[in-house]
Amino acid sequence: MIQNPQSDLAAEARLAIAEREALVAAREIVHKAVAWQGVHPHATLEELEVELLQLRQEFGQQLAQVLLEQREARQPVPGPVCAGCGHEMQYKGTKTLQPTTMLGDLTLERGYYYCPECAQGIFPPGSGVAAHPQWS
Ligand SMILES: [Zn+2]
Repeated sequence: MIQNPQSDLAAEARLAIAEREALVAAREIVHKAVAWQGVHPHATLEELEVELLQLRQEFGQQLAQVLLEQREARQPVPGPVCAGCGHEMQYKGTKTLQPTTMLGDLTLERGYYYCPECAQGIFPPGSGVAAHPQWS
């Protein structure tokens, strides 16, 4: 398999940025847990569990957002092929998506591609097809 050293470097750089962002999020979660402990020094085990489950949920959402946005950082060139007509789809910039996942509601900036012939738009890779005729 032929590797493109430049794109490998770019991929490594994006992963390094994602790791830094994830560590910042993790540190913030730990900070919140410690601050909560400071405010609730006599909380019950159950109250502590509730707080930590909430923070775990929050961290899972943040980690998912960081990792998904890291994938989105590369814009496929050329655009993906329309499943309807086979023509190349047009890049229309990024759009904010708020998918509901097993980790909770996420907020993602995703690249959006649109086929004017079929009035179909997609958010590659793999978040389904959405019709947005107003984006033409
Ligand atoms: Zn099409």
